Amino acid sequence: MRDVHIHIEKGPYTKEWIDRFVEQAVRAGLDEIYLLEHSHRFVEFAPMYASVCEYNDYQKNWYQRKVKHSIKDFQTLITDMRNMQFPIKIKWGLEICYFPEQEKLIRDILHSFDFDFAVGSIHWVDGFGFDHKAELWDDVDTEQIYLKYYNLMLQLVKSGLFSGVAHPDSIKCFHHYPTADLSDTYRLLADELNAHHMYAEQSGGLALNYGFEELGMNQTLLNIFKNKNVDIRLASDAHKPEDVGANIAKMEAILQL
Ligand SMILES: [Zn+2]
Ligand SMILES: [Zn+2]
Repeated sequence: MRDVHIHIEKGPYTKEWIDRFVEQAVRAGLDEIYLLEHSHRFVEFAPMYASVCEYNDYQKNWYQRKVKHSIKDFQTLITDMRNMQFPIKIKWGLEICYFPEQEKLIRDILHSFDFDFAVGSIHWVDGFGFDHKAELWDDVDTEQIYLKYYNLMLQLVKSGLFSGVAHPDSIKCFHHYPTADLSDTYRLLADELNAHHMYAEQSGGLALNYGFEELGMNQTLLNIFKNKNVDIRLASDAHKPEDVGANIAKMEAILQL
């Protein structure tokens, strides 16, 4: 089993820190982990977050707390770790927030550095960070934001920039659901993922980090992805070593149902 979405952001770029993720992976019975950093951590992606900072002071303060390193520091860690022996396989990559107007920046960065994978994620819709606080949803038109969220996700997939798409229904994070049936959109998404040889995460991130009761994708989305043979990979969205492998066995069981 593998866990394809693990953030290393809460510690230093050292072998000791990486060992803690590996040790937990071994305890959890995994044979491969994907270690990553979020694009908002790196100064090289700063132009991408201008719209996010302009949206309101809350988001600006959030971004300024998060941005920290140069990608060069991460690349140095990756190069060093690739020369070390570990008892399991490690892939190194990025989780990149997708903004359609920033494809060139993303492409340039991915060409300049050597990553094993890049997973694209939708965290911002027209500058709004929908997964931050429930009260920020008070004035949101749920039908509209779902429409925009999935339009962005389709653009993300068609961009050809990414190896996979992260948490493909994270828009449900605060329990707002559209009345519209999204099955056609999900089918289109599945076809585009397959056409671009991309995987979709079955992510336990909302369960782990938001206390969300449903584990992984909603059943409609999951059924469509399974029927269309989308490459579905299990992802804890761990943000600390002790969460590596969280929910992976349970999600594997759900996939087999
Ligand atoms: Zn994410
Ligand atoms: Zn993540």
